[in-house]
Amino acid sequence: MRIAIYPGSFDPITLGHLDIIKRAAKLFDKLYILVAINKKKNSTFTIDEKIEMINLVTKDIPNLEVVKSEDLVSKYALRVGACAIIRGLRNFNDYQDEISLFHFNHSIAPDVETLALFPSANNLFLSSSSIKELVSFDADISDYIHKDIKDFVQKVIKERLK
Ligand code: ADP
Repeated sequence: MRIAIYPGSFDPITLGHLDIIKRAAKLFDKLYILVAINKKKNSTFTIDEKIEMINLVTKDIPNLEVVKSEDLVSKYALRVGACAIIRGLRNFNDYQDEISLFHFNHSIAPDVETLALFPSANNLFLSSSSIKELVSFDADISDYIHKDIKDFVQKVIKERLK
């Protein structure tokens, strides 16, 4: 069985993440979405909210499981027998971050490959932080956030980022 992990903060999950998830799920028998518990990174959404939102927008993808972990991604990959870590590569900044992450992960788990997928054209400039920016200026986020979580995302960002 080919298992992969897609790790991230998902604060919140965007249509850019979802595009990568749908494409990666086709390549593997099982895909874990790993929501990172990072005490140093200030998240707007709680871990449970992130997981609930991801479960909602991925409910039609059968070979997927949403999990959380404080552990290093490569250690988690070894634990669940994953052969690949999925990442999205939007631009040169992502490339610089990803190549150092890759070497770091590879030194811990040499048999776990990192697979970088390019975003579809409409998601090239999309990030979770740009969603927060748009909401704070009352701009429409319908093109970037799944319709089933849009209202919740707007409400939480408005409440917490005052
Ligand atoms: P960010 O890097 O925006 O804080 P995450 O940590 O949640 O977001 O990202 C998890 C992974 O998803 C990273 O590999 C990131 O590059 C990728 N990603 C984020 N947004 C997009 C997007 N719009 N299109 C493709 N990949 C993306």
